[in-house]
Amino acid sequence: MNNDEQRKYLAKFNEYFPIDDQENGVIKQIKEDIERIKEITNLEEKCHESNLALSIHCEKELHVDYIYTKGKLGKLGIVYEDTVEKYHELIRELRTLDIETIKELEKNKTKPKKQNKKSDKQSEKQEEPIRCSGLACYKEIKLGTRYYYHKTKNDGKKFCSDECYVDYYGEYCHGCMNKFLVEELYVPNANNPKYLLCFNCWKKEKQEQREWEESQKSYCELCGAELTGENVFSLYCASCWEKETEKVQKRKRKEESKKNKQFDREREREREREQTWTQFA
Ligand SMILES: [Zn+2]
Ligand SMILES: [Zn+2]
Ligand SMILES: [Zn+2]
Repeated sequence: MNNDEQRKYLAKFNEYFPIDDQENGVIKQIKEDIERIKEITNLEEKCHESNLALSIHCEKELHVDYIYTKGKLGKLGIVYEDTVEKYHELIRELRTLDIETIKELEKNKTKPKKQNKKSDKQSEKQEEPIRCSGLACYKEIKLGTRYYYHKTKNDGKKFCSDECYVDYYGEYCHGCMNKFLVEELYVPNANNPKYLLCFNCWKKEKQEQREWEESQKSYCELCGAELTGENVFSLYCASCWEKETEKVQKRKRKEESKKNKQFDREREREREREQTWTQFA
């Protein structure tokens, strides 16, 4: 993983644990939730609220745990015990509260009906707020406003925005670390189906691949043809090698014949000298 990627994980992490005050994100949210739920007197409502908050925080915890591990944030000096672990402890507290509320509710159900009727009416009057199921969002979705939901999943999740929707159902692009819906992601390597890329990163990676391949190529210094096979590391292509050797050999032959001729001429002169000498003798 390079620094860029790690920085993206850190940025995501800081959405949950703000950089200037780590306790001001999910930690604050869950503490407020616990206090708020403790105050609720209607047991059914209390049970519903604690259940909802618990499922939201559990999902967030899974998510931050993933980011922390995947981004190797410990190496950046982020202390697990001060962040994820702390959050985990508070979730346990919320879970205990949830279980206690359920128990109490069960106990109450066995009590005479009169009392129950009254509390039923009470809860009917009170409208429960619908909250965005987004991983880093807890926004209330007011009645009558537009919200996003999955058309085929039927999971009852509602989202305040497209971003929250994509954040929830999407998968990470391994290039830019943003989330995208699965149908928007590419699998560049069939052997590694978990390695997903968004369109832009996929395009970039292909370009880099092409550039790398290009940089690995070498060309003949004489004719510019691409060098392949056993010639990859040589200067010339096979046919230029042939031509070059031919040239060298030709030159050699020429020099040799020149030498031979010179030699012949010298022999000739010597013979001539010998002849004149014998004539005088
Ligand atoms: Zn939202
Ligand atoms: Zn991307
Ligand atoms: Zn060549």
